[in-house]
Amino acid sequence: MDKISVIVSCYNEEKALPLFYEEMERVRKQDFENLAEFEYIFVNDGSKDKTLAEIKELRNKDEKVRYISFSRNFGKEAAMYAGLEASTGNLVTLMDADLQDPPALLKQMYDAIKEQGYDTVATRRVTRKGEPPIRSFFARLFYKIINKMSSIEMVDGARDYRLMTRQVVDSILSLKEYNRYSKGLFSFVGFDTKWIEYENVERVAGETKWSFWKLFKYAIEGITAFSTTPLILSSLIGLLFCLVAFIAIIFIIVRTLIFGDPTSGWPSLVCIIVFVSGIQLFTIGIIGQYLSKTYLEVKKRPIYIVKETEQDKN
Ligand code: UDP
Ligand code: MG
Repeated sequence: MDKISVIVSCYNEEKALPLFYEEMERVRKQDFENLAEFEYIFVNDGSKDKTLAEIKELRNKDEKVRYISFSRNFGKEAAMYAGLEASTGNLVTLMDADLQDPPALLKQMYDAIKEQGYDTVATRRVTRKGEPPIRSFFARLFYKIINKMSSIEMVDGARDYRLMTRQVVDSILSLKEYNRYSKGLFSFVGFDTKWIEYENVERVAGETKWSFWKLFKYAIEGITAFSTTPLILSSLIGLLFCLVAFIAIIFIIVRTLIFGDPTSGWPSLVCIIVFVSGIQLFTIGIIGQYLSKTYLEVKKRPIYIVKETEQDKN
């Protein structure tokens, strides 16, 4: 018999959690009754509402429920990592608590692994219904840019929702980097991946934790973690400017020799100085991004800190 670990990262999900549990149990009873046993690992990512109390309540009535509670908010990437580390199943799935990752797809994913021999089954939403258009626009732009820059393929609309074998989980866990960008990590480890497409579902309760600024920072994280193209681009821009300057010098020398040159050109000089220093700051900023990521990696801080789990007496 298989054992499926369901990892659910939760940040302020007190409203969504009971609904999630109910739906998950329904799917388990309907599709997996004699196929697989389950464990549910809820990772409480420093919620400020009653999420932890909700989880404990679920634990009290159901032995399948396990939990890890962080000492503060460490972010979804950290929560997923903690869940993967704690999981004991031979199959593992990552889900959101808001039912935007429908548990009903699980059977289909399970069959793809068991019958078609895939190592992992990932999901991608083909519509972005219910999302602000401006957000969809920037999301699309981001995927275009990162796929040009990175040799690792990032799939537009890919969710973190996926089912994978123990082998894949162990490979993910062997990547111990501090700046975690899961979509890239999953592409990086490879394995035979089946993609299942579905229409976007809106969250059942509560609200999204992603502000535009947070998403922007996440995008930068993705780019710095999986591409060094910006660094190459800065060098190329530098080279280009040297070339332009060289041509300009020759031009000025020749012009002076032919016409003689009274001192003029002050405004154009100012423009050039401002423009070039702008480019310099921009490229230094790019280098700074990589340096700051390196700085955080080198410190080797833990990815998350646990305050309590279901093992602790409460
Ligand atoms: N989440 C988390 N830590 C965070 C932010 C979010 O564990 O710091 C969880 C959240 O509880 C949810 C999942 O990550 O289960 C996805 O978050 P959300 O639904 O806000 O993102 P969206 O679906 O809007 O992209
Ligand atoms: Mg969501």
